[in-house]
Amino acid sequence: MILKIFLSFLLSICFIFFIFYYFPVKEGASLLEEIYPWQVFLSSNTLAQGDTLAIRIKTEKDFKEITATFGDEQVPFSKLQNSDWLGITGASVKKEPGKYKLSVNLGDEVFGKNIAVAERNFPITELAVMKELEEKGYTPSNISQNIAQKDNVSIYDVFKIYTPTAFFNKPFIFPLKKIEVVGLFGSIRKSNDITLQHLGVDLEADEDTPVYAVNDGRVVFSEELIDYGKTIIIDHGLGIYSLYLHLNKYKFTKGQNVKEGDVIGLSGNTGYSIAPHLHFSIKISRPDVFLSIDPLKFLKSTQFMDNE
Ligand SMILES: [Zn+2]
Repeated sequence: MILKIFLSFLLSICFIFFIFYYFPVKEGASLLEEIYPWQVFLSSNTLAQGDTLAIRIKTEKDFKEITATFGDEQVPFSKLQNSDWLGITGASVKKEPGKYKLSVNLGDEVFGKNIAVAERNFPITELAVMKELEEKGYTPSNISQNIAQKDNVSIYDVFKIYTPTAFFNKPFIFPLKKIEVVGLFGSIRKSNDITLQHLGVDLEADEDTPVYAVNDGRVVFSEELIDYGKTIIIDHGLGIYSLYLHLNKYKFTKGQNVKEGDVIGLSGNTGYSIAPHLHFSIKISRPDVFLSIDPLKFLKSTQFMDNE
C-alpha cells in the first residue's frame, strides 16, 4: 500500500515535470491586454540604451492601418502573412534615459503604456592601430575622419531610401553559423582626443566564412569603403537595415533581392580591420529617426514573432 502511494506520488511528480519541460512558459512576450478584438504583445516592458522594442498586434479585426508613437517618434506597422501586425523600434544608443509613452492607434481605440529607458554603461577601450595598419596609412585621426567625412556619407545616403512595409515575415537569424563576440556593441574606443563608439558587434570569422542574410530584403549597397572595407547593406523594410563590413567577397550586389539565409558574401579583413572578422550592425532609419541598435539584442527580440 505504501509502495503504491509512493509510486503514484512519483508518477505525478514526473507528470508535472513533463508538462513544464514540454510546455515551457513563454519568455520575451508579455500579454498586456486581452480585450477582444486585439491583443498587444511587446518584446520587453523596459529598455536600456541600444535595445529594440518589437510590438506585435494580434487581431481578428480588419484594420486598414495601425500606427504608433514612442515618445515623439512615429512607429510604422506592417501586416504579416499570419495577419498579425508588427512594428519595430528601439532606444538608440544615445537616447536620453527616462520614461517614454508608447501609444498604439487601433481604429477608435488607443493602447498606451509608459516604457522606461535606462542608461547603459559601455566599456572604454583603446583605439587599436597596429603597425601593419599604420603602414597602410591608418592613424586614429584619419580613421575617425574617414568615417565621418567619407564612409558614413556614402552609407547614410542609403538610409534615406525608406521602404514603409516589411520584406520579411519571420524572425531574424544570425549572420554566421557560429557566433563568438570579439568586439562589443557600444564600446567606446579612445586615442588621445579621438573618441569613436563601436555601433555594431564584431564576430569571430576566419577569412572566407559564409555570411548569411539575416532576413529577407533587398541589397541596397555593395561597395568598398576606406575604413569599413567591402560592405553590404540590406534593406528589410520598415526602416530596418542590416550591415556587413570588412568582407572579402560579395555574392550579391546592389539591387538584388535576398532571402533569409542566402550567402551574401564571404568574411574578410578589408578596410580598418586588425584581423579577419565580421562587423555586423543594425540601423533603424525612418524619415523622423535614426537609431543605432544593439544587433544581437535586436535579433533576439524578433524571435517572439513566432509565439502564438
Ligand atoms: Zn567592428
